[in-house]
Amino acid sequence: MPELRFDPITRRWVIIATERAKRPSDFGGHSPTAGSEVESTDFHPDCPFCEGNEAKTPPEVLAFRKPGTKPNEPGWWVRVFPDISPLVSTNTPINKRGYGIYDEISGYGYHEIVAETPKHLADLSDLDDGHVYEVLWAYKERMIKIKTTDPNIKQFIIVRNFGVEAGERFVIRHSHSHIIGLPIITKRINDELIGSSIFYRFHERCIFCDIITNELESKERIVLESDHFVVISFYAARVPFELHILPKRHNPFYETSTEEELRDLAKVIRTTLIKLKKVVNPAYNMILHTAPYYSPNPVYPVEEIYHWHIEIMPRLTKAAGFEWGTGFHINPVPPEKAALYLAEA
Ligand SMILES: [Zn+2]
Ligand SMILES: [Zn+2]
Ligand SMILES: [Zn+2]
Repeated sequence: MPELRFDPITRRWVIIATERAKRPSDFGGHSPTAGSEVESTDFHPDCPFCEGNEAKTPPEVLAFRKPGTKPNEPGWWVRVFPDISPLVSTNTPINKRGYGIYDEISGYGYHEIVAETPKHLADLSDLDDGHVYEVLWAYKERMIKIKTTDPNIKQFIIVRNFGVEAGERFVIRHSHSHIIGLPIITKRINDELIGSSIFYRFHERCIFCDIITNELESKERIVLESDHFVVISFYAARVPFELHILPKRHNPFYETSTEEELRDLAKVIRTTLIKLKKVVNPAYNMILHTAPYYSPNPVYPVEEIYHWHIEIMPRLTKAAGFEWGTGFHINPVPPEKAALYLAEA
């Protein structure tokens, strides 16, 4: 029987369509990208993210590089620079205005690229744990830097797109992420804040902390558990194999994670991606959700109600008219089955 499941955080329903239940082998995996695993080499002459091609990007804002090497030259292992065609930028002054009943703000903000490796490698799972940790540290450093110098920024979001189906913009594949700082709170975060406020009103507890306790007790949807993190096949998954990575310690802000936590997280992310690759090899979006710097609902401060986390959304199915029209997703893989496949992989 199909089952309707309610997500208590974003307060939306999904259909777990057991009638259409699919096995991992029913999905084709992601389409190959030029420069991906097929021809994975150390260097691609046209790739702006490769070491040696620093001139193809705007000047760097952060780089972990060998002593004695100069900015915007080779010698780095993680490099951050503004996006070549940014979604938002600080070149336009921030300007808020009304337009009839509508609200507008100039396209102010930060859109930076983290080139995660100097080599032309496809994905985070191709790097070692220590290197992934440095990438996670770069996120933290940029967030702290921007937040302490620009009070206009209200929220950060970190996005990684892997594969054509996940909306990769570059034809050439080189492991990278986007750091986006915005003067507004986005819809998804706002939905999560509303859901967690409602829960807090009745229980005076963080809903994410309760989910962790509950999932660790039931063990039905645990993909893996480490000292500081737990990876859950989400109960109300919108798409097959939707995974949430949550820190066990209640913490609203990613950038206050400790070195020990981020070293552990690096291992957890890599293992999770390798498991996903083994089971369904999907294109995917990986999104880091962290608390904004003001609360839309000051009665319940974000420090109490919010808990940073990472969501991994494999792109194995296509949203059709029903999903677009209703916001109500159809998922043909029960999350408990997905957890089993991944835990065993
Ligand atoms: Zn490259
Ligand atoms: Zn919590
Ligand atoms: Zn989230």
